[in-house]
Amino acid sequence: MFDQEIRLFDPNTGSDNAVRVVLAFPNTYEVGITSLGYQVVWRLLATCTGVQVARLFTDTHEPLPRNPELVGFSFSWELDYVNILQLLEQLHIPICGTERTDDHPLVFGGGPVFTANPEPFTRFFDFFLLGDGEELLGEVMVAYQEVRSAGRLEQLRHLSHIDGVYVPSLYTALYAGENGPLLVVEPAEGVPATVSKRTWRGEQLSYSSVVTERSAWPGIFLVEVARSCPELCRFCLASYLTLPFRTPQVQGTLLPVIERGLTVTNRLGLLGASVTQHPEFDELIDYLADPARAGVRLSVSSVRANTLTPRICRTLAERGSQSVTIAIESGSERLRAIINKKLDQDEIFTAAQTVAESGLQALKLYGMCGVPGEVESDLDATVALLRQIKKQNRRLRLSFGCSTFVPKAHTPFQRYGVDRRSEKKLQQLQKHLRPQGIDFRPESYAWSVIQALIARGDRRVGQVLERARHYGNSLGSFRRAFKDFQQELPPLDYYVHTDWCADTCLPWAHLLGSLTEATLARHTLDAQGKMATPITVG
Ligand code: SF4
Repeated sequence: MFDQEIRLFDPNTGSDNAVRVVLAFPNTYEVGITSLGYQVVWRLLATCTGVQVARLFTDTHEPLPRNPELVGFSFSWELDYVNILQLLEQLHIPICGTERTDDHPLVFGGGPVFTANPEPFTRFFDFFLLGDGEELLGEVMVAYQEVRSAGRLEQLRHLSHIDGVYVPSLYTALYAGENGPLLVVEPAEGVPATVSKRTWRGEQLSYSSVVTERSAWPGIFLVEVARSCPELCRFCLASYLTLPFRTPQVQGTLLPVIERGLTVTNRLGLLGASVTQHPEFDELIDYLADPARAGVRLSVSSVRANTLTPRICRTLAERGSQSVTIAIESGSERLRAIINKKLDQDEIFTAAQTVAESGLQALKLYGMCGVPGEVESDLDATVALLRQIKKQNRRLRLSFGCSTFVPKAHTPFQRYGVDRRSEKKLQQLQKHLRPQGIDFRPESYAWSVIQALIARGDRRVGQVLERARHYGNSLGSFRRAFKDFQQELPPLDYYVHTDWCADTCLPWAHLLGSLTEATLARHTLDAQGKMATPITVG
């Protein structure tokens, strides 16, 4: 697989005394190499002075060093944790950090899941990198080299003083009774009381380090057009976790990178939580619509309905895209106001019409059910809106992907639990939408429950994760593992379904996001003001 890669950077030639690092992705090569985050971390390490890095996937690896000093995991999909544990076993590294000795490597992790809430995984990791890796990785490698010959405790203490590095073993969690709620997470003496996520302020965002036909999007060159999103929809991790909203300049920054990518492939993917919100997106479209780029095959990730223009859609159609993806969340104006979506009904209809008239074949809409404050009539409104779109745009293939609301750390909705009726709601939507010729694609409710457990878990959940994998990794496996540990932690319902009040200590309270708790609480209060029956949490 590696021999089919076109590398777009020059790795270090390495030296005999280089720090030996294994960079793992807990899934197959095809999935891992498609992750822009993994590619970027790999490039950063491979170009770091005095570092030698080897890549490891679940199905293949580069030649691995005999005694790695650092083993890193890039992690973006929660259920892949099972593969982390398997890869550790494969490398003969104890799964639990407490069982590792000076003869074992330090195990570290980074990526959005850990940056949001690493607590359920603290059992397995020696340190986490919170936030953007661009500067952080270089600093960690320099700091590690300073204490390379020291014992692991001294190494970890040294690393814990870098902004954005979280060493969980240097913090103690206190609980109200054996299986009561979390009270506080306290630092050891001389260790920072809080850890702030790291924010990259450089002009350039990420772009592919490698192009390969073996990726899930064969031969694609990816470039990040925007990081975070200014809209602040109240459930949205992609927005809150990566604030502030940042966009590289088109001329001088984005275009040189894109031109470099187009020398090795004609497939270009523009990534970002909401790419069309780039303030110079028209300029980018001018470049891509130019006849000189006629051979380019262009894809974009999700776009915002009220930023979609006929020109953008036409360019996408002319450059080989079949569809556009828009997240509407709900057909109910009232619910969209609660979540701060700032999107009105007419803008959605106009966007659908624009897509239909542009020559694109399909419109993929995304939504969510079980959002705090949702009532029966909100689901009716979603059905009505989709029916209307279908009626007005018969030629367009219309799909509606629908997930269940899952609370995420560092967002205003972090204290709300998962709505137990969501599974029924998904069935109800299915019953009404499929007969209309709308391709309804529900996400698994059981999977949402597990996601919520991981999103709001404290460090006691780690033992459940470790046990559940032996029971088969279904929702039933997690329930069974919870029973095994019922004396040691609250029930599954507490983590998943309970609305947490303002007094509940958040497991990630000592890990600071972009906005303060007070600011998040103001957003929550504003949402409650728009609910028919306000649900008080914070
Ligand atoms: S517009 Fe999309 S990406 Fe932006 S905050 Fe809302 S849901 Fe998140």
